[in-house]
This record gives sequence, structure tokens and C-alpha cells, in this order.
Amino acid sequence: MKKRNRLYTLSLAVCTSLLLALPAAGTNRGNVSILVEGVPLNTAGTAYITSGGLTMVPLRAVSEALGFTVTWNGSTRTVSITTGEVPVLSGVVVLDPGHGGSSAGASFGGVDEKDLNLSIARQAASLLEQTGLTVLLTRADDRDVGLYDRTAFASLQKADLFVSVHCNASVTNPAAKGIYTAAYSQETPGWTLAEALGQSMVQSTGAFDLGVDQRPDLAVLRTAKMPAALVECGFMSTPEELALLLQPDYQAKLARGIADGIISCLTPGA
Ligand SMILES: [Zn+2]
Repeated sequence: MKKRNRLYTLSLAVCTSLLLALPAAGTNRGNVSILVEGVPLNTAGTAYITSGGLTMVPLRAVSEALGFTVTWNGSTRTVSITTGEVPVLSGVVVLDPGHGGSSAGASFGGVDEKDLNLSIARQAASLLEQTGLTVLLTRADDRDVGLYDRTAFASLQKADLFVSVHCNASVTNPAAKGIYTAAYSQETPGWTLAEALGQSMVQSTGAFDLGVDQRPDLAVLRTAKMPAALVECGFMSTPEELALLLQPDYQAKLARGIADGIISCLTPGA
């Protein structure tokens, strides 16, 4: 088992290490045999040696034989190899980084909410793309986007889910902390999404759980034609929580939680 683990580490760190670690032999197209842990891999003509002498082996076949999950994102031309069980999903998710441009959102300690929202949403998007989902952002940079334009964009893109990403602030409670999610009402499919998001975000961050709320007053929840939820990642008005929200590690946990909540709602049979 030790040997297996070492090979996994190598292959994750540098792909060429994996290729070198595998015994490959042959001189022509179709004449390269690959053994993975002693077992011949059926690569049927896809492994070959180039005219320049490079040995080419199919990444997917080798990675999957080693127990990894491989996903391909055609729009960013990115292959993702992961050790965990990544579900393979299809569908369109729209993530909506709250505010932007002239709308900063909450602003504390020189930090604008719009920037935190964008950073967290971008990271969640890249995690979701690893499952094969198409993930679109209502804004990919710091710009004004109208509230109605956000959900109109989701409708135009035929989104299966819509999640708006925000950070909270309290004017009355300087010690307010925790993760809060919202949907239009308990009767809408967005409620299940909001519950799943709250659960997974609390799990990934260890933050206080402020539960799910009905927010028919929020335009993005009211106008979304698909299951929609809004997440508040923490309180910028509370200095300790603002410090956490600025930490790359904590943002990564929030993004993981958002991605997991969405994945749980899109996984067949879940
Ligand atoms: Zn906001």
C-alpha cells in the first residue's frame, strides 16, 4: 500500500512523474504497453511514441485505473484529476456574486463586500466545474449588474440553479456571527437548495448556523425562474469574522460548502 500512495502523490504533483513511473515499452504507434500496478491497461492504439521520441499515454485511462476521477472542462480546456469521488454532473449553474461596480455592498475595515463575494463565488465556480457542470457568473469582475439582469441572465442561460453569494453585516449586534441562507419561501424548490447550502457551508467552515430564512423581499429570489437561494457567508461588521472572511483558507472552505450544497441538489438519487 505504501508504494501505491507514493505513486498517487507523484502523479498529483507532476504529471510527467506519473508517466515516468509507469513501465512503458515500444517504438511505434500502437505498440506501447502500459502496466498499472502490474495489470496491463487496454489503451488500444491511444498510447504511442511521437516522431520526437515522446511517449504519449492517455491521461484518463491511466488516472482512472489508479482510482482517480478525471473531468474535462471544454470551455476552459482544463483537465481536473481528483482523488475523491467527484460526481459527474450535467447542467447549468449560475452563481451571482452580490453587488459590484458602484454598489460595494457592506463596507468594513476598508473591505468591500462586493470583492469578497466575487472571490468566494469564483472559487465555488471552479470547484463546481470539476464535476462537469457548466458554471456561469453574473459578473466575473468588478462591475455594475442590475438585480433584474442577474436573474434574466440565469433564465437566458437556462440555468438549473441560481445562487447569490453575499456577506452579512449587522448594525445592531457588533458580535453577530454565522452563516445564513435564504429562499423566496418555504414552498419553493429554492428552500431545499437554501437548506442544503446552509448545512454544507456550516459543515465545511464550522461557523455558527443561523438557519434558513424566507426572503420574498429580495429581488433575485423573487424573480428567479429556477430554484434560487442566497447565502450570507459571515458578518463583515464583526471584526473576528471579517478577519476570517479575508483568509484564503476560510474562503476556500466557504466555496467548498457552496459547491457541496449545489452538488447535493443536482446529484441524481441524492
Ligand atoms: Zn450583499
